[in-house]
Amino acid sequence: MDHRTHRAAQRIEGRPAAPGIALGPLVRLSAVRHDVRQRRPAAEEHQALVDALTASQEGLSLLAREAGDAEAEAILAFQIALLEDDSLAAPAFAKIAEGEAAHRAWGAAIDPEIASYETAEDPYFRGRASDLRDLRDRVLRHLAGEADQVVPAGVILAADDMPPSTFLATDWREGGLVLRRGSPSSHVAILARSRGVPMIVGADIDRLDDGTDALLDGDAGLLIVDPDQDTRTDYCRRRTEQAEARAAMASFSGPVHTAAGEPVQVMINVTGLAELKTLDPGDVDGIGLMRTEFLFQGRAQLPTEEEQYRIYRSMLEWAGDKPVTIRTLDAGGDKPIAGLTRADDANPFLGIRGVRLSLRHLDVFVAQLRALARAAVAGNLKVMIPMVTVPEELDRCRVLFAQTCDQLRREGIEAKMPPLGMMVEVPAAALTIEDFNANFFSIGSNDLIQYVAAASRDEPELAELTRPSRAVFGLIGHVVKYANRAGREASLCGGMAGDPAQVAALLDQGLRTFSVAPGALGPVKAAIARYTGPAA
Ligand code: PEP
Ligand code: MG
Repeated sequence: MDHRTHRAAQRIEGRPAAPGIALGPLVRLSAVRHDVRQRRPAAEEHQALVDALTASQEGLSLLAREAGDAEAEAILAFQIALLEDDSLAAPAFAKIAEGEAAHRAWGAAIDPEIASYETAEDPYFRGRASDLRDLRDRVLRHLAGEADQVVPAGVILAADDMPPSTFLATDWREGGLVLRRGSPSSHVAILARSRGVPMIVGADIDRLDDGTDALLDGDAGLLIVDPDQDTRTDYCRRRTEQAEARAAMASFSGPVHTAAGEPVQVMINVTGLAELKTLDPGDVDGIGLMRTEFLFQGRAQLPTEEEQYRIYRSMLEWAGDKPVTIRTLDAGGDKPIAGLTRADDANPFLGIRGVRLSLRHLDVFVAQLRALARAAVAGNLKVMIPMVTVPEELDRCRVLFAQTCDQLRREGIEAKMPPLGMMVEVPAAALTIEDFNANFFSIGSNDLIQYVAAASRDEPELAELTRPSRAVFGLIGHVVKYANRAGREASLCGGMAGDPAQVAALLDQGLRTFSVAPGALGPVKAAIARYTGPAA
């Protein structure tokens, strides 16, 4: 205990949103001051709002260009599209014509929109409310002539909420983020995790003083304000240990063998180009799962064929001759997409999801297949279909894909039909795996477990039921053994593959291809290298 410290350290609990430890002074993001302007004649107020809207749009476009990854661009594209839509500002211009000041008119126009997003039934729209609040505040700042608050690097930032645009404009080196609102599945949390910024949400930030030192534990969901010396020392040690563990794991780069010398493939799961920026293709055996739904989420318009083509092609170029497995859109369940998935699905995980949705929206599906067939020319592409339950679904996809390739060639566009595989994540498909005309199989343990146990993957109270069970291992073994007999590849890309504690049991089942989150590469390779053979 540090006896020089008179004030007891304050512990504020929240929910973990992105792991890691940060130590630094607290900075509270100040709210925008709305009422600092004088009203001028209507024509000037009109022009002031036009200028503020233009400046906001330009600022967001610049951010999107500088962010340089598809995930961030997609999030910002939603806000830019809203600003481009004249109907958002039309009521504000009407009020200005009636004599209202520009800032009040803008507030009166956008606040009801924000309220309707906040109270929407669809979680997707509720999640977008913070994007609208950000638009409101950006425009108000421009009207008030205020610059955006400049935040120095290395601080713990505390705020009510934070839109992705503010996150992307902040220098997060050695820093961390504490929010009163938000959720671990928000876009900001996804960005924080992919950029290694420790973050917690749901924290009471009322009594925080600017400048006080604080320690943010993103793993435990804890903020310790004014920590004593022992706590600081303890956390600094943990931070060093984490850095050392990462460095030690990094030494497991390149191909890996079991202790008996048998080669095992370890690939990565990605959501876009962002994760690839810091990875060396030499350290992985390829991309085992690209979840394309993240290209479709959080935007006003679905990505075009051309946009998808460019992203898929960039991934293939990154991987060289190594395989890149791109999964067609797996929207639905916990990944709703505005205008595509059904808001009235009574049980989204058992509803119109994955291939079921794609086969009902052929325009969207064919645009994706066209982008994939074009990209296939550039590298070692494999395409897989999510949520396949019966063989006919995969057969329909195969026919559609072949027709898409023919159509592209008729248009004089180079195209190639890549190997077509399936996710094995529905128990019915696992049990009858011999019936499917798939070039390869990839087991999705996240969904397989929840469907086998009839227990939601998102329900913390059912965590005991959603552990890998004998029933789940039985299905995995059945699929892997069939694939090995049939000479087709079987991989596992669900969370089980990235858990070093499960590696030996999966190798026991004959699995020889793992696909894991990039952060799990080292620990999984280390567990494979320790494997001496099946348990006696
Ligand atoms: C899975 O279900 O294990 C899987 C990899 O897919 P997702 O987590 O995207 O549903
Ligand atoms: Mg799944």
